[in-house]
Amino acid sequence: MKRMRAAILYGPKDIRIENIEMPKVKPEWVLIKVRATGICGSDLHFYKEKSFIPIISDVGKGRYVPGHEFSGEVYELGSKVKGLKKGDRVGVEPIIGCGKCQWCKVGCYNLCEHYKLIGFHYIGGMAEYCVAPAENCFKLPNNVSFESAAMLDCIAVAIHAVNKAEIRGGDSVLIVGAGAIGLFALQAALIQGASDVYVVGKYEFQLEKARKLGATAVINAKNESFSEKIMEITSGKGVDKVIEAVGGASNVISDVLDVTRKKGTIVTTGIFTRPLSVDFFKILTKELTITSSWGYCYFDRRKEFGTALDFLAKEKINTQELITHKYPLEKVSEAFETALNKNKEKSIKVEIIF
Ligand SMILES: [Zn+2]
Ligand SMILES: [Zn+2]
Repeated sequence: MKRMRAAILYGPKDIRIENIEMPKVKPEWVLIKVRATGICGSDLHFYKEKSFIPIISDVGKGRYVPGHEFSGEVYELGSKVKGLKKGDRVGVEPIIGCGKCQWCKVGCYNLCEHYKLIGFHYIGGMAEYCVAPAENCFKLPNNVSFESAAMLDCIAVAIHAVNKAEIRGGDSVLIVGAGAIGLFALQAALIQGASDVYVVGKYEFQLEKARKLGATAVINAKNESFSEKIMEITSGKGVDKVIEAVGGASNVISDVLDVTRKKGTIVTTGIFTRPLSVDFFKILTKELTITSSWGYCYFDRRKEFGTALDFLAKEKINTQELITHKYPLEKVSEAFETALNKNKEKSIKVEIIF
């Protein structure tokens, strides 16, 4: 049996490179030689929290091989795979729906009852090789690099949020959070025709990126009240749509209620670590819509992951400003530390490059 190097996340500050068995290719799957993999906030969550990782993955209970944001080359084909060949460069959609439950049947596989993720349940891109269903592999055009393609998952998350916010030409939009999702949501909102996109964040280096990527104005929440500032910039009108991309222990939603215009929409994408208290009277009297955005799926006959690739191929989305650090697999611990210490390291997206 062939073996390979893989990073296994065991818990807080504990990620180890081990020599493990290479995964076997099922008939409709392919073996992928990984080329680039991003570290996601969800991996950092388990890397920093002293909590049990609630999973039995390919590598055992309470641990997993991270890397759901990745790209690579097709290395071996399952017996029933058509339309792919060895050496094809691919971006891989990590969400695997069962295809049979009521949610999968209507295209919402992000809500699948038996949802599985490559890079959590299955060995992910922080290994030399991993397996994926052939239908999850998207062939990359020559102008899309492996590094950019490793961000397709992040871009698709942002596109889903923008779709759920129903952003239309002329809308004014507030993006709360200037990490990778926030910066992609900014770009996706502009593509969708938003006339003004404001970005609020905590770190100056991230806000600088937002400015470069086309934000109408940026607000540093550390220095000023973002709700007051937004009302000032918009001459007291507020914004039509809000995309929240911070989560954590913050209570941004209560401030967001103040700056959202009547009949406005607020979409949450962040992982909140505690219940929030919000003023429903404000929601009532403004007829606000509050909704959430979880992963991505089909939107209007198209996979949002495919739309993300289309945006990359047409060079409508900038990824290079967001990829701030690259490490080889051997330095995976250092890579996680860099991703965790955002402000000190000025990191946005940290990638493992093979
Ligand atoms: Zn992710
Ligand atoms: Zn399903």
